[in-house]
Amino acid sequence: MNPNIAINREKFRKEILPRRYSPFFHIGFNFLVLTGSIIFCLLNIKNWDGKEISLFAGFVTFNSLVVYLNHRYPMHHRYKFLKAYYWFHTQQHHNLFNEDDSTVRDFRDIYMILFPPSLVGFFAFVYVPALSYGLYYFTDSQLAFLFALSIYSYFLLYEVIHLASHSNETNWWYKIPGISKMFWHHRKHHDPKIMNENNFNIVLPIWDYIFRSKL
Ligand SMILES: [Zn+2]
Ligand SMILES: [Zn+2]
Repeated sequence: MNPNIAINREKFRKEILPRRYSPFFHIGFNFLVLTGSIIFCLLNIKNWDGKEISLFAGFVTFNSLVVYLNHRYPMHHRYKFLKAYYWFHTQQHHNLFNEDDSTVRDFRDIYMILFPPSLVGFFAFVYVPALSYGLYYFTDSQLAFLFALSIYSYFLLYEVIHLASHSNETNWWYKIPGISKMFWHHRKHHDPKIMNENNFNIVLPIWDYIFRSKL
């Protein structure tokens, strides 16, 4: 293990990690809330034909762009009103995991990988319902539920792929063709020399291709 990373992780566990933190509660809360929200949307979408599939694909591509821009800019550059993003991502997440040691060794370190439960709860119960209600007001419920579904499913996939990217590379999921490329795509992003320039997508590298930031 990289000695500097080992020191950073020790310091994080002593100074930042809440004493009563439960990684099982964290992972359970995030996954149950997001999965429950996905099921709720699926139950409310009346039919799936070409129009719904195209709209869903369009929304997912748009979500991917929003996440790409968030990752590339406020998470990697310090802006006055978005300092928490920078602190959480560049100063903590990248400080604990770099390209030669991006594997979780103490399960409590997922505190700095998954989104905080408060943020997931806010997204699931306030932000996405409010946006979807706005869409419903101007269009119809089918479009609103498709939009909400695209955010919840993208969010869940993001959490799963990000967590898997920081798991041990001897795990079986590193042998899944295609998907394992995304794990390595993100592990490369943890190289401090390129982290501000390359590999910002987590789920699909589509915007890294378009903006020529894929390595
Ligand atoms: Zn990461
Ligand atoms: Zn990053």
